Amino acid sequence: MTTNFHCGRCGECCRIPGQIHLTDADIARLAALLKLTEHEFIQQYTDLSRDRRDLVIKGDPASPCLFLIDNDCAVYAARPEQCSGYPVKWNNPGWERICRPKPE
Ligand code: SF4
Ligand code: SF4
Repeated sequence: MTTNFHCGRCGECCRIPGQIHLTDADIARLAALLKLTEHEFIQQYTDLSRDRRDLVIKGDPASPCLFLIDNDCAVYAARPEQCSGYPVKWNNPGWERICRPKPE
């Protein structure tokens, strides 16, 4: 796996079925970007995860993340660690077929 990966913002990983889990640092960064308090951000944009262990970005089975708008991430500069870690820190079977990085 290359460490010189440059995301092409194709949005494909945003549609992988599942949930986008949030760390405390993610919440602080996203709230700051959206000029909200952390409490306001949590109220407006998060749900309890299915296993009830942490918070996730609101979404639905058809579109797991409400920040994917017109096939682009509306909070890219502050996107969660789960998002920025794909596909170098974690990935899924067949990721090479969907991920379209920028040429190095
Ligand atoms: S936060 Fe952005 S990068 Fe992460 S799943 Fe949502 S739209 Fe995609
Ligand atoms: S699938 Fe790859 S290139 Fe596309 S948004 Fe996700 S990380 Fe970026």
